Amino acid sequence: VATSALLNKLSDAMLSNIKNLFPICRSITGEGVRDTLRYLQDLNRELVIHDVSSGTQVFDWTIPEEWNIENAFIEHESGAKFAEFSINNLHVLNYSSPIDTFLDRAELEPHIYTLPDQPDRIPYVTSYYSKRWGFCLSQNQKNAMPAGRYRAFIDSTLKPGELNYGELIIPGKSKAKILISTYCCHPSLANDNLSGVVVASALASYIKEKYPDPTYTYCFVFVPETIGAIAYLSKNIDHLKKHISAGFVLSCVGDDRSYSHVQSRLGNCLADKALTAALVGRENVKAYSFLERGSDERQYCAPGVDLPVCGFCRSKYTEYPEYHTDADNLDLISRDGLKGALTALTSIVDAFEFGLKNRISVLGEPQLGRRNLYPTLSNKNSLLTDVRMRTNIIAYLDGKHDPFDISIITGTPLGSVVQELVTLREHGLIAAD
Ligand code: ZN
Repeated sequence: VATSALLNKLSDAMLSNIKNLFPICRSITGEGVRDTLRYLQDLNRELVIHDVSSGTQVFDWTIPEEWNIENAFIEHESGAKFAEFSINNLHVLNYSSPIDTFLDRAELEPHIYTLPDQPDRIPYVTSYYSKRWGFCLSQNQKNAMPAGRYRAFIDSTLKPGELNYGELIIPGKSKAKILISTYCCHPSLANDNLSGVVVASALASYIKEKYPDPTYTYCFVFVPETIGAIAYLSKNIDHLKKHISAGFVLSCVGDDRSYSHVQSRLGNCLADKALTAALVGRENVKAYSFLERGSDERQYCAPGVDLPVCGFCRSKYTEYPEYHTDADNLDLISRDGLKGALTALTSIVDAFEFGLKNRISVLGEPQLGRRNLYPTLSNKNSLLTDVRMRTNIIAYLDGKHDPFDISIITGTPLGSVVQELVTLREHGLIAAD
């Protein structure tokens, strides 16, 4: 399959997968995470679902009790219902304890969460590590609740169980690993972070289809954010420290407004360079320092862990107005948004698989004309630009600059650099060191 056809096929699949996964009520533990991981397992059979029992110590944290929920609502004495879980699973405070009680509006008030600044949006609120119960409503919905008696009903369970995460390994010839980590713990929110889940899954499919015998080993993890990353790290840290060449945390990669790079703690690891290159030539690229971190790069880059990992978003979490509200829905993400994220990552994979150390095989400039690599007649500007790009790339093929360096130095999109390298290799112009 040609690469462009493969990318189109995967983009269609990402969109339908995100639609299928959207209704599931996920949290950091429970049936929703397992359903999500099983769905991903159907897409890539290599995915293994791991479990860690409640009460297990992972670094400084303890795996909490497992949370599951069947139903929740608030019912006024008139029979009017509010905050119905069956209509939107954001209506229940995620990880709420069970409750079935009668109380008046004033007593109910402290258990209701709204966003007064965005009065028509339902907020996404969690309480994983301290027991409470509550409901999330838009401010307008809350304002419409009459005085009187109410029933607060949450049919949830908090019991010893397990935390689950998915691990999908595509073995390569080398033990050197590329890590892709994303989180699967948010309920019905599309960009944050079903986008990360479906893009990671599509990237795994891309690698398997395009590189049946890859050089690098690719390791994909789908974890509940924070606690899942910590659990995964606590099991695998020695191995990861030895073998990870570069890693990327995917978060909010489904809208089409910008590209964001959340740098590693020191901002100078191979993953930082690779992602910087992958975003060369794209529109509205923003770099954020580690001080603006928010996802699992917090764990992968923590002192002592120090893996070469950075974060990748389209519009970064906390920076877009729909973040953690019911407006982060299927209307916010798009096929182009998801595809943009996927192609940034496939260009990184293509560069790693091409090989990082490349040297031009001749001394002095190669004679491009006799290889049909130079337009001998035309002087169209676009062709001259192409030649300039080709000769610029050649100028840095000294065995010291990898494709990421070359992309950044020459301002050439990483995908084009790799394409050029493939052409030059076909013409015998590249001597791999
Ligand atoms: Zn989030």
